Amino acid sequence: MTTPPNISQMSLNDMLYSRDMSGDEIHGIQSYLRHYGYLQDRFGALHDGEYDDATEKAVRLYQCCFGLPVTGSLDQATLCEMAKPRCGFVDISPMDGAFTTVSRWEQPELTYKFNSFSTKMAQADIERDVAAAFGLWSEQCDLRFTMTADDAVDIEIEFAQGEHGDDSPFDGPSGVLAHAYFPPPNGGPLAGDTHFDDDENWTCNVSDTQGIDFLTVAAHEFGHAIGLGHSRQRGALMFPSYSGTQRFLAADDIAGCQSLYGPPTASTSADCPS
Ligand SMILES: [Zn+2]
Ligand SMILES: [Zn+2]
Repeated sequence: MTTPPNISQMSLNDMLYSRDMSGDEIHGIQSYLRHYGYLQDRFGALHDGEYDDATEKAVRLYQCCFGLPVTGSLDQATLCEMAKPRCGFVDISPMDGAFTTVSRWEQPELTYKFNSFSTKMAQADIERDVAAAFGLWSEQCDLRFTMTADDAVDIEIEFAQGEHGDDSPFDGPSGVLAHAYFPPPNGGPLAGDTHFDDDENWTCNVSDTQGIDFLTVAAHEFGHAIGLGHSRQRGALMFPSYSGTQRFLAADDIAGCQSLYGPPTASTSADCPS
């Protein structure tokens, strides 16, 4: 195993912005990003010592994984994070590739609507949790979701019991909680659609440990609706089984959605310090 590059040895004061950095400093950053798995082949050709497209994508992926504002530039917050003492083990290994992908939407703007609501939760709570579940993905990759009253939408959401018209009947309480259809060309007219079994004991209340957390399951199903398969990594939201509330994406989920859509193009305001 090679020694991780030590960013703190570099002069932080001299390199507040990527455009001001020397070739040697950029080279150091590239070595750091490569060592921890952020500089990936899929980002394209790398020019050593240049703040090129591949390096910027790697910086965006790093910022996403560390919860930093996704600016794509080597700003002070990013450089300070890189300078912190840390474990030398790789963050994203090309070998563990735990996420899987099936298909992707062509366009970054996706629309959704509700065909029916649950008997277990208030409509306003469902709409709020669905928006939050979509938000977990749109914060980390280049997709945006809008609820609309139009007939023709990309993702139709419904609650149903038993047979509900798609040859995949639900099974009553427990067992299968929900299912979703992958983006075109999969799924035919159902592509992207997401169905929840209304025989489950759904809850919107994060402190209700007896119920099934709707936001957690919705976020997992929307992962399928944007084209992710299941992950082999325990702790990933896209792991197949439900084991309690998980209202966040793991690094593996982030790597998965970014492999399909790339990092978000604009900085998300959600977790930017003011
Ligand atoms: Zn269904
Ligand atoms: Zn699943």
